[in-house]
Order: sequence, then structure tokens, then C-alpha cells
Amino acid sequence: MSTYHPLSEAEAIEIARTLEGVFAPDAKLVSREIGDGNLNLVFHISDPATGRSIIMKQALPYAKVVGESWPLTLDRARIESEALMLEGKLAPGLVPTVYLYDKELALTVMEDLSDHVIMRQGLMNGGRYPQFAEHISTFLAQTLFFTSDLGHNQQEKKLRSAGFINPELCKITEDLIFDHPFTDADTNNFEPAIRDEAEALWNDGALHLEVALLREKFLTHSQALLHGDLHTGSIFITPESTKVIDPEFAYFGPMGFDIGAVIANLLLNFAAREGWDKTAADRDAYRAYLLKTVRDVWTKFEAKFIALWNEHGVDRLAAAAPGYKENYMRRLLQDTVGFAGCKMVRRIVGLAHVADIDKIQDAAVRERAQRLALEIGKTLIKTNRSAFSINQLIDAVETAA
Ligand code: ADP
Ligand code: MG
Ligand code: MG
Ligand code: MG
Repeated sequence: MSTYHPLSEAEAIEIARTLEGVFAPDAKLVSREIGDGNLNLVFHISDPATGRSIIMKQALPYAKVVGESWPLTLDRARIESEALMLEGKLAPGLVPTVYLYDKELALTVMEDLSDHVIMRQGLMNGGRYPQFAEHISTFLAQTLFFTSDLGHNQQEKKLRSAGFINPELCKITEDLIFDHPFTDADTNNFEPAIRDEAEALWNDGALHLEVALLREKFLTHSQALLHGDLHTGSIFITPESTKVIDPEFAYFGPMGFDIGAVIANLLLNFAAREGWDKTAADRDAYRAYLLKTVRDVWTKFEAKFIALWNEHGVDRLAAAAPGYKENYMRRLLQDTVGFAGCKMVRRIVGLAHVADIDKIQDAAVRERAQRLALEIGKTLIKTNRSAFSINQLIDAVETAA
């Protein structure tokens, strides 16, 4: 293919034509750029005559956020395509199939999932996804266990991790999640109505200690290959199917960071319900559904992870050491709780927000949602080191609401 440049729709069509066995040579292809446009281009290319379609995602060499732009490595397209392929092997059916990766163009060609919806939007609309906890817990258990030292020869793991260093994207996470929200940083982005909340975050030493400990884990604890950005905007869903997309932040880090991302985003939606449900009864019912999903995600993950460990654990001594598995799972829960809290806080006062809350029209309702999300987030951060059960997290959320 050619040297790197952002593709036009016409060029994307020409590349799609060269894919073997996808489109007829004389097909009249249609291309639409459907990305959100901050970091990547996403082309949807289809043949209306046959209904066949594909997605082409191309990394841009910069990130564009609030009018500013900073350089960002194109290598993340490699990381994304390699992570998708590995996840596809470890968790079959739970990610899109990758058809092609082109290094020069930083381009990934993959299965079109347009028959699914982005989960964040699905939740905002009040959708229910009875298979979600089952699917995402399988995704988490399979990808995390088999890339960790528990399920993976440590030499292979070290070699594999060399391909997933991802320093630039890790730096974005480090700054935007573990630093900026807790100080008066220029990148912060919050509504004037909650300035008191932001200032409280900047002046809370006990909170800063917990965030510092979590940041240290994020930077140093190379436990398993993470997705790295597992929010509900990175999940395509239907009642029967779940597909995880967009692992460009993948790197070897603490497992609780991925599990916590899923839970944080369910809880952000929980905090936002007043903006989406017509009656208090509807809101209560949906919140109960979300909390049940949170509980199921953790309990199913825990059961599957331990089952994998029992069957495929590579370190006999550690696996047999009395109390080790319990200790490990407890630490995993604690990390999950702490990272979930950090992810909630950053979505309210930090640079990038979530539509669940920002799209609430009524300013007073939106403000209540923001305050509730912060209350839950701070509680999770502050209690992470004493967490011992998922019910404790659920109780804390119910108390805050
Ligand atoms: P970014 O890294 O820029 O966030 P994403 O991979 O999340 O990019 O994709 C952005 C949007 O493009 C998604 O929200 C979705 O609407 C669309 N998209 C991405 N991948 C696919 C796919 N495989 N099938 C259908 N639409 C997709
Ligand atoms: Mg600002
Ligand atoms: Mg995305
Ligand atoms: Mg992305």
C-alpha cells in the first residue's frame, strides 16, 4: 500500500476493493466515515447490492481534544490489531474478526458490527442485556488469566509484553485518570455548578494517598495484558451478543483496571438514571438491574478465573499454597474497586466525559448525577484497600444513592 496519510473515503473504497474475497471487483461500494474523530478515522464500507460490509479504522498521528492537538504514535494501530487478534483467540466470538492490518497506513480492517449498538447508548435508552455479565466475565477471565503469570509461562509473558509497552497511551491514562482530576489542571473540564466538588478533590489528602497507590500499581504492576480502555463505549452489544472493540490502550498492567472500567461505567449510568427514566419506579428498577449486573460481572469473573486457575495454572507451588488464591482474588477485588472509583471521578471533572451524564438536558438533574457519581467514585477510592466482597461495593452505592 502507500505511505502514511489520512485516507479519503474514495481511497478507503479502493483499498477495500483489494481485499480478497470480500467484494466483487465491479461492486459499487459506498463509504461513510463514522468515527468520533478525536484519535482515529473509522470508515464503514458497504456494497448495497449484496449487503456485505467491513470497517476500516485508521489511526491519526495526533489526538484532537477541545481544539488542541498533540502528536500520538501510529504504532497504537498495531497494538490495537494485535490485541484484537489475541483477544479473539482467547475469547472467541467476543471481539470483531480482524481481516487485515496495514502497518504503513496504520489501518485495521475488521468485521462490521453495525447490527449491534454501542452499550453506552443502549444503557442510556434503557436497554437490557441479559447475556452481558456472562460474556464480559468470560472475556475478562480468559484474556486476563491466559496473559498473566498464572496461566502463561513467565518467559513467554515477558517476551509478549515487549510488543505491548504502549508508553504514549499509558501516559495519557496516567495523567487524565491519576493526576489531573486531583489537581487544578488546565485539562480539567467540569461545570461551574460543581466547582466545590472539584476543589474538594484537589484538597483531600486521604484521597490523594489512595490515588497515588493506585497510580503506582497502574505504572508498575505488569499482571496481565489489559484492554486498557474497557468502558461501555468500547463494547458493542445486543441482547444475545457482546463484542469488545478499541483496545488501542492495551498494555501489561493490573487486571483490576479492566474489571474496574466495566463496573465504573455501569455505575456512571446508575448515577445518570434520573436523566433517562420517566418515573421513579422505572429508575429504581433500572438501577437494580445495573447493580445486579455489577454483582454478576464480578462473581462470574471470579468463578471463571478460579476455574481456569485450577485447570491451567502453571505454578504448582503458588496454586497449592494455602490461602494464596483467596489472597490473590481479594487483592484483585480491591484493585477493581479502587480503579473503578478513579474512572468515575475522571469522567466528571477530567477532560473526557460520558454521554450518560453530559447528555442529560436538565441542568439540575445533570448536577445531581455528577454529584452522585463523584460521591460513589470517592467512596470506592477511599475504601478500596478494605474491600472484601462485591456486596460491600453494592451497599456503598445504594447508601450513596
Ligand atoms: P476510537 O478509538 O477513535 O474511540 P472506536 O474503535 O471506538 O474508535 O470506534 C469509533 C466508533 O466507530 C465506534 O463508536 C463505532 O460507532 C464505530 N465502529 C468502530 N468499530 C466498529 C465496527 N467493528 N463495526 C461497526 N462500527 C464500528
Ligand atoms: Mg478546561
Ligand atoms: Mg473508542
Ligand atoms: Mg480508542
